[in-house]
Amino acid sequence: MLSVNGLRTRYGRIEVLHGIDLEVHSGEIVTLVGANGAGKTTLLRCLSGIQPVTEGTIHFRGDNITTAPSYARVKQGLVQAPEGRQIFTNLSVEENLRLGAYQYRDARVDKDLQEAFALFPILREKRNLPAGGLSGGQQQMLAIARALMGRPMCLLLDEPSLGLAPILVDQILETVKSLKELDVTVFVVEQNAFAALSIADRGYVMETGQILMAAPANDLLADDRVREAYLGV
Ligand code: ATP
Repeated sequence: MLSVNGLRTRYGRIEVLHGIDLEVHSGEIVTLVGANGAGKTTLLRCLSGIQPVTEGTIHFRGDNITTAPSYARVKQGLVQAPEGRQIFTNLSVEENLRLGAYQYRDARVDKDLQEAFALFPILREKRNLPAGGLSGGQQQMLAIARALMGRPMCLLLDEPSLGLAPILVDQILETVKSLKELDVTVFVVEQNAFAALSIADRGYVMETGQILMAAPANDLLADDRVREAYLGV
């Protein structure tokens, strides 16, 4: 579904991604782990079209989207739920969700809204309240639900567990796992390596702008180097 080949990018004169290769197949949950500053967010910015690629290609469902603008990628089904939530705090929960479907004018919007509420019942309870009043975990749920309103085929998630209490980390990642049932393919970037690999099919380990390891998530969880460097074991 998503295929990245030899991708390089730079900030000014400094190259920060040095030839990334990765694949996300339809129906998979794929996790990218790596330390602070490894380049995970930059890679996601390249995938969503915010950061220009200096070399290499990105293909999505067979199309070369390396230079496609962000809105075109969203339209094709490649949708990112941003880090740090970036919800509209003055708008209600429901208004935020409807904004995620701004490009659609059909009856499916209401159906998708009900599906989002089914996935996150707390959002239904608070649908008419300002989103700014939600807790951190609830805002993260809203960010994911809003991205789902855009009808993604492949959802890109940047640190969905950022800033959440441990119990909510598991809850959010379990929800990510349940997206499989909605036929949504997921590429998730996480510093919370253990929880994120636990819900994934496959994983990539990134270090200083390069992919260090690519393997089934269970193999990474069992790998001594990964356990030492990223799982704190
Ligand atoms: P984190 O988990 O802390 O977000 P990351 O793995 O996502 O880390 P990036 O944010 O992609 O890493 O950063 C990769 C490298 O690029 C780092 O060395 C960072 O300092 C640098 N960098 C990030 N954004 C910019 C920018 N806008 N301009 C210049 N350098 C940047």
